[in-house]
Amino acid sequence: MADPAVIEDAPRDFIRDTIRADLDAGRVQSLVTRFPPEPNGYLHIGHAKSICLNFGVAQEFGGRCHLRFDDTNPAKEEQEFIDAIEADVRWLGFDWGAHLYHASDNFEQLYAWAEHLIEQGHAYVDDLSAEEMREYRGTLTEPGRDSPYRDRTPDKNLELFRAMRAGDFPDGSRVLRAKIDMASGNINLRDPVLYRILRAHHPRTGGTWSIYPTYDFAHGQSDAIEGVTHSLCTLEFEAHRPLYDWLIEHLPVPAQPHQYEFSRLAISHTVLSKRRLTQLVQDGHVDGWDDPRMPTLSGLRRRGVPAAAIRDFISRLSIGKTEGVVEMAQLDSAIRDHLNTHADRRMAVLRPLKVVITNYPEGQTEELDAVNNPNDPDAGNRIVPFGRELYIERDDFMEDPPRKFFRLGPRREVRLRFAYFVTCTDFVKDDNGEVVELHCTYDPETKGGNAPDGRKVKGTIHWVSAAHAVPAEIRLYEQLFSIENPAGADDFIGELNPHSREVLTDCLVEPSLAARNAADTVQFERTGYFCPDPDSTSDRLVFNRTISLRDSWAKVKGRGR
Ligand code: ATP
Ligand code: MG
Repeated sequence: MADPAVIEDAPRDFIRDTIRADLDAGRVQSLVTRFPPEPNGYLHIGHAKSICLNFGVAQEFGGRCHLRFDDTNPAKEEQEFIDAIEADVRWLGFDWGAHLYHASDNFEQLYAWAEHLIEQGHAYVDDLSAEEMREYRGTLTEPGRDSPYRDRTPDKNLELFRAMRAGDFPDGSRVLRAKIDMASGNINLRDPVLYRILRAHHPRTGGTWSIYPTYDFAHGQSDAIEGVTHSLCTLEFEAHRPLYDWLIEHLPVPAQPHQYEFSRLAISHTVLSKRRLTQLVQDGHVDGWDDPRMPTLSGLRRRGVPAAAIRDFISRLSIGKTEGVVEMAQLDSAIRDHLNTHADRRMAVLRPLKVVITNYPEGQTEELDAVNNPNDPDAGNRIVPFGRELYIERDDFMEDPPRKFFRLGPRREVRLRFAYFVTCTDFVKDDNGEVVELHCTYDPETKGGNAPDGRKVKGTIHWVSAAHAVPAEIRLYEQLFSIENPAGADDFIGELNPHSREVLTDCLVEPSLAARNAADTVQFERTGYFCPDPDSTSDRLVFNRTISLRDSWAKVKGRGR
């Protein structure tokens, strides 16, 4: 039994309530759940809801959660996807231990159970074409009609089904169907297909099989074989539950699992469907499944979103039966909350403007002490080098600034973060009239950023030392779609945001960034959160913007877009 003290604090929802009641009443001895991805694409943040729920309840109630590949459609499934899914679930922080399964592990058993249904008169081989089957199926308002092949004898059905397995018939020419009720109000019970003929290389069983079970036939039976007690899935499977139960009831399965459905996660300004995400990748609208703009777990990881921030976001969602769209701003805010507490600070200049400190001795450098994270005393300090020539952000200087511009302008004084007060004395323009260099003087008495005479400055700006800074490319990302509900658009590709990526190639970052643990996301002071991209080389760093410092959505809305 789980510790009751832990359960007191645990989240409450109808699924957890059901599990608790089943355990308390002794209907279930020990909780077993599973996360059942189909390996036909990469996992997205919608899947994270299912992963966190399935693995989460297993942890909370002292049970276990399996990872099961629902690999029943070799036409679309690939080893690349299997590997990526395992890596993503692990990255999200969950472990299935020894419990890695595949629906294909059960193909032989499922086949035997299909023969059992045939022998009992509960399944038959149908020769109708796909088109004819659709016509016979009826509609939501009209009952279906029995197939002319429905009354074949069990012996004839067995003979045909074995011939299907032996590869005697072309793909798609026959199917095995459950014999339930063509007049049922639930279309899923109108003699659903259990097996189809398909010659495709399967990532695990290779060319062994020329028939494959459908999701409906494989899923509940795999649950039963693995001893899954609570089979948690999304609402679109609600209408499949009677079929799930019918199969469990009519087969000699070793356990009696139950299915429970909760609402899927949908997020504004993106799409969460493998079909649409596949299209984005295949048609080259993004640079692969792990493009930082993708809502995939691998994309979020590459963008620098920590797994813990995703878990935080998911834990704030309700587990219920109401379909709704969660604002992207909610995910952003979970990411910001997490990084604000955990990310080290660094200095990086995105659009550099040269500064010469004219009263600073030529050739001299200093090592200044800089705090890593004001929100985390354990994060310690680092050294940043300072010298006569620096770079600051172009935006931090104005030739003719308004009064409230608390940065640099002629004769204005600011604090250089961790360093000195400096005053702008002059500036140099190029032939186009663009300011290309500032001349400043520094006050040696203000080392560390405070004046002994109590003099105040309103602005603090970041900088890097010209002699020590490391060149970098910085990639800025915005939302992938311009509209709130691209999934609902007639042509979702047409709603892609043309400005979703901006690449800055002349950035300069403080030298400590060259030596860091490549996986970590840091805050570039005053600019946002960034993480190194795997495209980085030894002489060229590449960073992705994980997220800006402030909520840019409010601003976007204000502009009435
Ligand atoms: P998609 O619709 O994106 O193609 P899927 O449901 O076909 O996804 P599966 O690989 O079958 O993808 O999903 C594995 C599990 O994840 C299923 O139990 C499914 O219910 C769940 N899941 C998929 N998408 C979401 C989502 N958006 N929110 C919550 N759970 C999801
Ligand atoms: Mg699916």
